[in-house]
Amino acid sequence: MRVILASASPRRAEILARVAYPFAIVPAEIDESRLPGETPEVHVRRLAREKAARVSRAHPDAWVLGADTIVAQDQEIFGKPVDDADAARMLARLSAAPHRVLTGLAWARGGEPVADAISRSDVRFRTLADREIADYVAGGEPRDKAGAYAIQGGAARFVASVSGSVTGVIGLPLEEVTELGARLGVPSPVSPLPAAAIALRLRAVQGEIAARTVASGRTPGAVRLVAVTKGHSAELARAAIAAGATDVGENYVQEGSRKRDAVGTGLPARWHLIGPLQSNKAALAARSFDLFHAIDRVAIARTLVARGAQPVAGLLQVNVARDPHKAGVAPEDLQDHVRQLTALPGFELRGLMTIGPLDEREDRARAVFAELRQRFDELRRMGYERLSELSMGMSDDYPEAIVEGATLVRLGTAIFGPRLPQRPTEGPSRP
Ligand SMILES: *Cc1c(COP(=O)(O)O)cnc(C)c1O
Repeated sequence: MRVILASASPRRAEILARVAYPFAIVPAEIDESRLPGETPEVHVRRLAREKAARVSRAHPDAWVLGADTIVAQDQEIFGKPVDDADAARMLARLSAAPHRVLTGLAWARGGEPVADAISRSDVRFRTLADREIADYVAGGEPRDKAGAYAIQGGAARFVASVSGSVTGVIGLPLEEVTELGARLGVPSPVSPLPAAAIALRLRAVQGEIAARTVASGRTPGAVRLVAVTKGHSAELARAAIAAGATDVGENYVQEGSRKRDAVGTGLPARWHLIGPLQSNKAALAARSFDLFHAIDRVAIARTLVARGAQPVAGLLQVNVARDPHKAGVAPEDLQDHVRQLTALPGFELRGLMTIGPLDEREDRARAVFAELRQRFDELRRMGYERLSELSMGMSDDYPEAIVEGATLVRLGTAIFGPRLPQRPTEGPSRP
């Protein structure tokens, strides 16, 4: 069963790769003018349905996704700017009053739309100086964007607040796309995904993280993505780095070390060991990784320092929820460990790490992340100002982690799809 995207937008291709892969791209040529009396909501939904239906008539056996994104103030619609002057005019208007971003989505089969959805986000810009607008327009980013801006790009610094669907603002209303696709039985991506799909999905995730960072009122760029390649081939790790992943995470020392060697030095990245470390692998680990996220005792830090080139950089893993199945120091032992680790010559304690509650509700994850953040702030107030990283958030709970102050999120499944079952020989594992 084929899947077709009825849009030439690179951002839409990124969306779709998170729901279906492979797919073909067949842009829909339709008349996009607004009908008399049509509200922005009705308009955007109709365009999505018409785009999907148009392409579906030529390809009746395929699943066809159509989409359209507009920016609206009251009943006025801002589409893509026709030229730079138009872009500057739109940005000045958006600076003066709040607006909403509307994305319509529709799936079609057999020439007819079979399901559709609309996502809405409410966005407020701060007051922009003419100079800022002129510089942004001159950079070229507004040209192909509804409302003349990209929240995941240079316009991140314009945004004062976002509510509603955060991902909808980049034309990527992930929940709606996923929910509709699953309900209709659109074929899911096959695992392992090819390199081309990895590149799209990585960019989709990076865009989403950028938008969520800004929507949480945080500085653009404050959250870095660690692409977790455990259980996937060196080929896929290479594809992710080539597509722009700067940080790669592995759980197991041998697997990670082999993969780093296979990727080679031609594609540089920072490699993170995010799983627990046994002392008999410390020498190999010290050579193979740039940051250790799961330091859970002073002795292992000391062993790493003794075996490797100094300094060794690490994060202290905290078992915030005191889950007996999880590693990490108990919250009451945190200060004592921080004191010892910051005093250890050759070791650089960069921050804290935790794993959110698995298979639990979002509010539980959020409470765990908030608690780690509070303890982190407290340590900094006590004078441990060199602690700068908070590693928290995985594929299921990173939106909550970003809201609560994560600086590193560790995502595997969201980028690479499901993993094959792990070999049990390399040490403790989690699903
Ligand atoms: C496997 C793993 C991840 C990535 O998990 P996903 O759910 O695939 O995003 C992140 N952190 C740790 C510690 C892990 O073991």
